[in-house]
Amino acid sequence: MDMTSHTTATPAIGVQGDARTGVTVKSQRELDLMWEAGQIVGLAHKVLRASVAAGMTTRELDAIAEREIVALGGKPAFKGYRGFPATLCVSINSEIVHGIPGDTVIKEGDLVSMDLGAIVGGLYGDAAITVPIGAVPEELTALLEAGEASLWAGIGEVRAGRRVGDVSAAIQAEVVRRGDYGIVRGYTGHGIGTRLHEEPNVPNFGIAGRGLLLRPGMAIAIEPMVNLGTQETLVLDDDWTVVTADGSPSVHFEHTILVTDGDPVITTKVD
Ligand code: MG
Repeated sequence: MDMTSHTTATPAIGVQGDARTGVTVKSQRELDLMWEAGQIVGLAHKVLRASVAAGMTTRELDAIAEREIVALGGKPAFKGYRGFPATLCVSINSEIVHGIPGDTVIKEGDLVSMDLGAIVGGLYGDAAITVPIGAVPEELTALLEAGEASLWAGIGEVRAGRRVGDVSAAIQAEVVRRGDYGIVRGYTGHGIGTRLHEEPNVPNFGIAGRGLLLRPGMAIAIEPMVNLGTQETLVLDDDWTVVTADGSPSVHFEHTILVTDGDPVITTKVD
């Protein structure tokens, strides 16, 4: 989930961090719990990817997501978050993010974006995937590849000593390199830890060398949203579902990543 948070600049009590920015540096215990939460998210996504098919309703996907999270010992992170009514966000085709599960039936040729969060011991994991249903046109395959590749380009910059702007610029550069796509501006990645959305915001566009300095023990969720058409968005009357203003298809990929002394640790990736 990618809602921009506007939190106060005070870290949770007992958490080492930067009082000026509100960015928290996690303890080893917290990082371990983030790993557990992330793995539950990754495993739930694995089941969803294998299960999603034409003829299913989005509500059935939500039920699978909730069943898996609970079976693995986690708690759904989105249900009740600012009043969101479900465990899973399901956003189809021109829906970008925050789609509410319901009676919508998935069809051949759809792009189904599924965004999911879990909590273990008060720590969060958050990830999203977009899955094509059956065969899709080449331009949608390329869009899917651009979205996923831009996530990995961003993850590659998650190292101590780099800045949030390096992550943002890498995502943007990868999308631009792949085509004339719309990179969603109004929704961003985010810090994550004892809350689903913490500082800093992690935009999917930006300038290298700018922004917060990344330090070991920080954690961010990176989540590019890439449109086949323009970057403009609208919110539907349900006050949740974000769609492309031009009706073009959109994709969304997300992982939760820990900054370490070395390579980034992707908590939501499972093998
Ligand atoms: Mg998120």
